Amino acid sequence: MKSIVLIRLIRCAGRLFLGLSLLGVSTGWGRPLEIYFIDVLGGAAVLIVTPQGESVLIDSGWPGEEDRDLNRIHDTLVTKAGCSKLDYLITTHWHRDHYGNVLPLSRRVPIGVFYDRGIPDSFEEDATFFRRMIEEYQQATGGRSKVLRPGDFVDLKQDPDGLPLSLVCVAANRQVIRLQGAEENPACERAEPQAEDFSDNARSIALLLSYGDFQFFSGGDITWNIETRLVCPVNTVGPVDLYMVNHHGADSSNNPVFLRSLDPIAAVMCNGPAKGGSPATIQRLKDLPGLQALYQLHWNIQIPKEQNTAAGFIANPDPQTSGQYIMASVAPDTKSFVVTFGKDTNPRTFLCR
Ligand SMILES: [Zn+2]
Repeated sequence: MKSIVLIRLIRCAGRLFLGLSLLGVSTGWGRPLEIYFIDVLGGAAVLIVTPQGESVLIDSGWPGEEDRDLNRIHDTLVTKAGCSKLDYLITTHWHRDHYGNVLPLSRRVPIGVFYDRGIPDSFEEDATFFRRMIEEYQQATGGRSKVLRPGDFVDLKQDPDGLPLSLVCVAANRQVIRLQGAEENPACERAEPQAEDFSDNARSIALLLSYGDFQFFSGGDITWNIETRLVCPVNTVGPVDLYMVNHHGADSSNNPVFLRSLDPIAAVMCNGPAKGGSPATIQRLKDLPGLQALYQLHWNIQIPKEQNTAAGFIANPDPQTSGQYIMASVAPDTKSFVVTFGKDTNPRTFLCR
């Protein structure tokens, strides 16, 4: 509860700073906040670079594939974002499309703090792979990874003259952040639970990034019922400006009540040509009254083109090529954000709430 109150305070402080800027009072704004959705072909790897130059990587893509994802993550961090180290690496859960490159990445750049949902003693879903990969993970972290729990903040540097910045864990290990005493969310009347999901997806770490008036939700692969618990009976996370579509766009996630409650202005789906991007999820997103743009990293080539998002919103429109990332860049006054393919292709500006 303390945490969510803090988030609300941070939001209020953001509005105060915005007010100061409109009055012409200098707030010493520097570089924008940048979010890179790296193309790891149906896995996940999202890099956040803060106005203070700190870097947070959420997940590290698939292992192997001749270091395809490793090279893309490294190139984005070092060449595109200009970072010489990674300050935080958060692994949302223990599926191989999310923690494939922790050890090799740690050999290329220094990594400050490793966060995860907790390391289970055994992992029936993927036992053989997990045994090997968790050994590598422990080697990379030196056994010093930290567990992120709902309500925990990643300790990002603040700009004393800039707008408040926070990254808070809102769900992990099937637990969700709680807010008591607030108004109930009327959308919950329509909530329909699904059969309980006992896979590791439901245990994913979900995060809310706040920077002034800008809110970004990134929920790993959380599924239907966990999503509902994040917004019912009280909406603890929405509304947001930018939504990283849960679970690569799978339709066992992205339930309509959750999406309505997040009410995003723009959404980015980290799908592959043949992974994620379910037509049901895409339709639910298109049906959101406030959504101005749905981005996909790829076409879902298994469904008709028209069931995907519009052509100009696909980062890698040629099925023969891949590797183009989607970037969101939040203006230092947090009044707006720009979404591009790569650093500057096809820019579109969205106003924050
Ligand atoms: Zn996944």
